[in-house]
Amino acid sequence: MFNIENITRKNILQMKAYSSARSEFQGFANVFLDANENPNETMLNRYPDPLQKELKKEIGKLKGIGSSRIFLGNGSDEAIDLLFRAFCEPGVDRAFIFPPTYGMYSVSAAINNVEVVELSLENDFQLPLFDAIKDQLQSAGLLFICSPNNPTGNVINKKAIQNIADNFSGLVVVDEAYIDFSTEKSTLSLLNETPNLVVLQTFSKAWGLAGLRVGMAFASEEIINILNKIKPPYNINTLSQKEALKILTKSSVTEDQIETIKKEREKLSVELKQLDNVVQVFPSEANFILVEFENSEALFNTLIEKGIIVRNRSKQVKGCIRITVGTPEENTLLLNTLKEMQR
Ligand code: PMP
Repeated sequence: MFNIENITRKNILQMKAYSSARSEFQGFANVFLDANENPNETMLNRYPDPLQKELKKEIGKLKGIGSSRIFLGNGSDEAIDLLFRAFCEPGVDRAFIFPPTYGMYSVSAAINNVEVVELSLENDFQLPLFDAIKDQLQSAGLLFICSPNNPTGNVINKKAIQNIADNFSGLVVVDEAYIDFSTEKSTLSLLNETPNLVVLQTFSKAWGLAGLRVGMAFASEEIINILNKIKPPYNINTLSQKEALKILTKSSVTEDQIETIKKEREKLSVELKQLDNVVQVFPSEANFILVEFENSEALFNTLIEKGIIVRNRSKQVKGCIRITVGTPEENTLLLNTLKEMQR
């Protein structure tokens, strides 16, 4: 049976968390002389709510999940790092990843002195069958599944995720940074019956707030309590908490933007397929498209010269470039430039 104590680093279980002024006293008062703040009003002279209660309440309503099962980080990158710090014993536990995938899992592993085991995705970028990898999954640690996957754009089969989670003794982290662009439903629906599941989402993509640095982790209360125990006390600043709350009240604007991006993604895919030097356009459920070109390196450099920056992913997937879906005007400019380059 999964037991949080078995997978949490002993020093983390034993340590005492820092108790900030704002977490020790949370009620209303006339005079706050407890946190060594400057008393003069600047709108930002007070520390922010360390547990971001108001914001979590609104996120919870939207996602149908209680605040005690939500962690907020300085981007989901902070959540990834804290998961390593809490649940991977350096030099002992391992991280399992399925390349080609998001690069920060191995970077965070390296920072935390955790060995990475690479279990490649299949040719269709789906997970390998559990039986094929079960021997490697004997040790505990963290296992990352990115869905929709960056840079391939496909959604990972939910049954396969569930199967791995049911048979893995460590934590399974499903990174859903791009889920809002997908027709597939979130794995949040698996949380209740999967105690070793952590789902990551972010305000950086569909919500249009990459500069804000707010990422979300959803998991059991036990897992969230550990993340809260080790996070820097005031990791989400006051402005970010306010702006994130604001965007949640404008979800119809966000939904319209998502619809436009999805339409543009389909238009871009169709048109890219018609170019002579395009070998293949991978189907995408995200806000980017992975495209294999005959001459990806040269094409990448020429686009830079023309002021259009795409992401060269040819080291991860041979001959491939990842193109983020831009505004309709930007996408037209890209297509026209690519057409011109063929002449
Ligand atoms: N996960 C994936 C799959 C990503 O592509 C990214 C950013 N490119 C992140 C997480 C990090 O997002 P955030 O801005 O929330 O730190």
